[in-house]
Amino acid sequence: MDPDRRAFLRRAVAIGSGGLAVAASPARANSSSHIEAAPQAMGVLVDVVRCSGCRRCEAACAKANGLPEIDPEELEDQSLFEQARRPGPDSFTVVNRRTFNHDDGTSAVYVKQNCMHCVDPACVSACLVGALRKLPDGPVTYDAQKCMGCRYCMVACPFEMPAYEYARPLTPRVRRCTFCFDEDHANGGTIPACVQACPKECLIYGRREELIAKAHERVARQPDVYVDHVYGEFEAGGTSWLYLSPVPFEQLGFPPVAASSWPRLTESIQHGVFKHFMPPVAWCAILGLTAWLTRRREIPFGVDSASSDNGQVGRDRIAVVHGDVSRLEESHDEPQCAADILAR
Ligand code: SF4
Ligand code: SF4
Ligand code: SF4
Repeated sequence: MDPDRRAFLRRAVAIGSGGLAVAASPARANSSSHIEAAPQAMGVLVDVVRCSGCRRCEAACAKANGLPEIDPEELEDQSLFEQARRPGPDSFTVVNRRTFNHDDGTSAVYVKQNCMHCVDPACVSACLVGALRKLPDGPVTYDAQKCMGCRYCMVACPFEMPAYEYARPLTPRVRRCTFCFDEDHANGGTIPACVQACPKECLIYGRREELIAKAHERVARQPDVYVDHVYGEFEAGGTSWLYLSPVPFEQLGFPPVAASSWPRLTESIQHGVFKHFMPPVAWCAILGLTAWLTRRREIPFGVDSASSDNGQVGRDRIAVVHGDVSRLEESHDEPQCAADILAR
């Protein structure tokens, strides 16, 4: 959904609620407290510098989640990068290419994108029936049996990650990365399939707080390689998926999301609705408007064009962006794979 459309919807919701959303209430006062990640919260650090764009993570994700499988030959098809893609009901994660002009020509970086599994998720807050749930371990889970299909979560998500199964009119679901969470898993979670599949150790699974420390270590050790920004440490109140990049994140198409926890708006609306007993017809009108505005989303997550010129990039970073990670491998920063994390 483009920003103008999103802004319009939020204004419409505010008007529809007759300003009730901003009414002071004990619930709203309580909701203003910042939710911190639990100590046991797990996450994934995505080091964009190391990504080769092989898309094996996509293939592993599809297989692990019972989605349409990706043939090995398909992974060789570079033409796929000519158009930016976004996660959808049949692909919980996608890798896009971003290109940059610089003095020596053009270089590219590859960016894996999926649900960020926010620390304080707006989608969870927006869901009126509790179909979405945040677990202390990190994942945001979804219960299709509870979902009423209002798609309000799609509007609330600052990263525009939930996708709707329009192709299943009778039993549509909201689909997004599951964090490969298995409700029956003894430890409450498992190493994501995409992490296990990545041959470049671009994806690191571990405790969120340790990943943040590791990310800052990498930046401090190689400031000529990385921008000094761990995306997801603070954005939207923090996310389980964290990113390191050789170029500013806006050049990767990441939305400039504020650091404050995102659910305040959506909680305010809900609390206003229930405190002031909004007439059901008004609420139905809002949900109807939401459904209409979210009926199709063609614009990729935070990406206007995978081939657009995003300006100049420092030469040192370009050396890495070219795909030569030897400098990284020469460093003392040994990449950690999922097995390393498990072995702890
Ligand atoms: S990225 Fe969006 S869908 Fe995923 S947890 Fe955050 S708010 Fe929810
Ligand atoms: S964590 Fe699992 S569901 Fe999410 S992108 Fe990785 S493989 Fe797919
Ligand atoms: S498997 Fe790893 S290197 Fe390959 S595209 Fe995915 S994140 Fe990048």
